[in-house]
Amino acid sequence: MGLLWKFARLNRLPGHAVAAHLCARTIDPYEGIEPFDIDVRLVAQMLDIAHKSVSAGIGKTFDSTSPHLRYCPRCLNQGYHAHAHQLLRIRLCPIHEKPLLTLCRHCGRTSAYRLDAQLLDAPFRCRHCRGYHTRSGTAPPPHHFALEPKERTAIIRAILG
Ligand SMILES: [Zn+2]
Ligand SMILES: [Zn+2]
Repeated sequence: MGLLWKFARLNRLPGHAVAAHLCARTIDPYEGIEPFDIDVRLVAQMLDIAHKSVSAGIGKTFDSTSPHLRYCPRCLNQGYHAHAHQLLRIRLCPIHEKPLLTLCRHCGRTSAYRLDAQLLDAPFRCRHCRGYHTRSGTAPPPHHFALEPKERTAIIRAILG
């Protein structure tokens, strides 16, 4: 999600344009798709990243995930949102060890975790009020964010359970 948001923002693409390129069949961009419905090959090509990075971002369908965006404000400050944040069995951010949030601190609503025009149009923000979910309350830096080795280990450990 972090990568898709950055892609939309850097290329100044409206959410419906990004949503329309997530899978090969024609979809209603306002309806969107579930993360596991995306076409890995297409998205890898669009973001210019490896297939395995896309697959890791989607995760495995047998893991139970939250239907709502679950986020760590500290991670979003770096433009980072991992599949691990969506796993229901994980309550604390594996990197920052702080509770994962689902409610917007501006309007108090949850955001459905569907890849649709509305969510893709609000990078790092609430889909309803468009307030930032980042800890700073402002946009994360545009540069590519790479995890430190120990952060990567924390995420992998959390995913493996
Ligand atoms: Zn975090
Ligand atoms: Zn909100």
